[in-house]
Amino acid sequence: MSKQRVDSSDLPIFLDNHSTTPVDPRVAAVVMNSFINDFGNASSVDHIFGDVAAQAVEDAKNEVLRLVNTISSKVVFTSGATEALNLVLQDQTAIDGRKPVIAVTPLEHPSILLTCDELVRRNLIDLVFFEVDRHGRMDLGNVEHVLQGRVDLACIMAANNEIGTINPMEEIAQVCHKYGAKILCDATQAAGKVPIDFDKWQLTYLVISAHKMYGPKGVGALITNRKSLPRPLFWGGEHQAKVRPGTLNVPGIVGLGEACRLRRSEMTSDEQAVGRRRDCLQKMLTDTISGVIVNGDPSCRLAGNLHVSIPGIVNDAVIARIRDRVAISTGSACSSGDERASHVLRALKLTDWALEGALRIGVGKFNTDVDIQRAGTILVEEITKVRQLLGSSENLVRRA
Ligand code: PMP
Repeated sequence: MSKQRVDSSDLPIFLDNHSTTPVDPRVAAVVMNSFINDFGNASSVDHIFGDVAAQAVEDAKNEVLRLVNTISSKVVFTSGATEALNLVLQDQTAIDGRKPVIAVTPLEHPSILLTCDELVRRNLIDLVFFEVDRHGRMDLGNVEHVLQGRVDLACIMAANNEIGTINPMEEIAQVCHKYGAKILCDATQAAGKVPIDFDKWQLTYLVISAHKMYGPKGVGALITNRKSLPRPLFWGGEHQAKVRPGTLNVPGIVGLGEACRLRRSEMTSDEQAVGRRRDCLQKMLTDTISGVIVNGDPSCRLAGNLHVSIPGIVNDAVIARIRDRVAISTGSACSSGDERASHVLRALKLTDWALEGALRIGVGKFNTDVDIQRAGTILVEEITKVRQLLGSSENLVRRA
């Protein structure tokens, strides 16, 4: 059967790069090589196949450490950020007979918030919250105030997965050190996009995930300082210092390592280009659609993030009209099937119309200028149509 020629102007455009990213073909090549050629079990000490796999894991570990600027920290490879975060959170135990206190921002990912809820339900921790403002920004005075009340572990994301706000981790970490709180930094969205400095910030735990930085799904890492390796969540072999037993996912791990290596050398220039494209799309929307507000910190958000609220629309109606042509979302992938607005937008205390008209757009390094022009045109067209339809049906209701 002859291959049908596909006109690229008909292909759907992926602008949901916060939910996941396409795998960089160079990453895919090393993963494929690991599947097919270097397929040994990294724990097989009796032959060369095991040696090669073990070396590949070691190299990947070093790439992870380099990306987050640390020399001597430990790396535990996991199935992704969710597992890595659970390893840390579920490790918090009573101190001198007192329940540990965990402080979180209300914008953390559900893999932190729901795990904490479960630990509270089991009466294992006390939970307190930092405050954020309308743009998702934290206030250092509030961080200090919360930490004064005795906090054992502060969970602060480096950048938010919906509105893209980047936290000033260095300053926040200094306050945590002043009060002796350990720090868990979820850098799932930030790593490979903004610089992370584990050693300078003196973090206790840092979490990353390959599929948010052009690597494969199902692999991530927990980076810890030397003293803070958590206890395992399950038991089995002696892999990874028994913290995370189970045969290592060598292809996934080498994919994560290669993604980290490429991000380290290409992040700065890639993110500049991504930012220019995001700004171009933002301008198309704000120039042609009245009343658009841009959510997130206007002066400090991820280069690819464009989160808008559009008056006079229902976001689901827009998504339904464009879903085969442009991939964007109403919230994070974890909550986009949910009827309610996301916990992030609710924490920002957006008005009802801003919740109802919220659209999350995530530009990535593989999006081209042509993608942005096409997507912008489609978005403007369909948003205008939805506005007209809703406007006219409202008028009909009013007249009836
Ligand atoms: N934290 C953040 C900020 C995320 O965006 C995500 C993924 N949406 C996760 C954690 C969970 O990552 P994973 O899919 O690797 O479990």
